[in-house]
Amino acid sequence: MTERNPVGEHAPDRAVSSELRAQRRALAEANHILVDQAILDAFGHVSVRSAENPDTFLLSRNLAPGLVDDDDVQLFTLDGTTEDPRPPYLESHIHAQIYRARHDVQAVVHSHSPAVIPFGVAGTPLRPVLHMAGFLAPEVPVFEARDTLGPASDLLVRTPESGAALARALGGASVVLMRGHGATAVGTSLEEAVYRGVYTEVNARVQAEAMRLGGCVYLTDEEGAATVATNRPQIPRAWAFWRDRARPSSQGVHP
Ligand code: MN
Repeated sequence: MTERNPVGEHAPDRAVSSELRAQRRALAEANHILVDQAILDAFGHVSVRSAENPDTFLLSRNLAPGLVDDDDVQLFTLDGTTEDPRPPYLESHIHAQIYRARHDVQAVVHSHSPAVIPFGVAGTPLRPVLHMAGFLAPEVPVFEARDTLGPASDLLVRTPESGAALARALGGASVVLMRGHGATAVGTSLEEAVYRGVYTEVNARVQAEAMRLGGCVYLTDEEGAATVATNRPQIPRAWAFWRDRARPSSQGVHP
């Protein structure tokens, strides 16, 4: 047992590799789920912090999320760069700077999902109106790109500085809206970040509908925290269902 042979010495590397392989697979699945749930379309992206090295994260190369396969995943450092020669997404700094600022965050979903956009531009706060979205309490901040990029930018988070400004706007929240652009949700796992991306959009639709009917009763901060505690262990159930639903489309992409 105390003896080490060449196979034993290589075993830890193999274990790490299989962990990364599993993360790449899960990340491809996350992409397909978010497309099937209409949170991502041709744009937006999802990342996961590496289980092997927390100072790195995994993110697809520049590709429509529905087309992402395991081999498309690139490894980034927290300066938002990758040694992979294939072109990366334009906004890797969203992910890098949030992982830098928030050690609790294990995954990030950046989307342009349409029902969320009005809450970033209308001055009406997005607040939790249903128990599946209690993570929106106590508040959903809005990031104003103009504050760091000036009045003539393309709104994209292209630099470490604007990524850091976004991370500051996010603060300790679960979701930050990005004015005229979209939203970024974070989670303590890949599954939780995906869940939050999905239910941020659901909450935005339901809240807007309730407001058209005359008004909203929002979850209190305490109700929000209680629902987060209840829902967190239930998230694998949603993931399994969503992954199964998304499978036919991903098989269509990769026959
Ligand atoms: Mn974007």
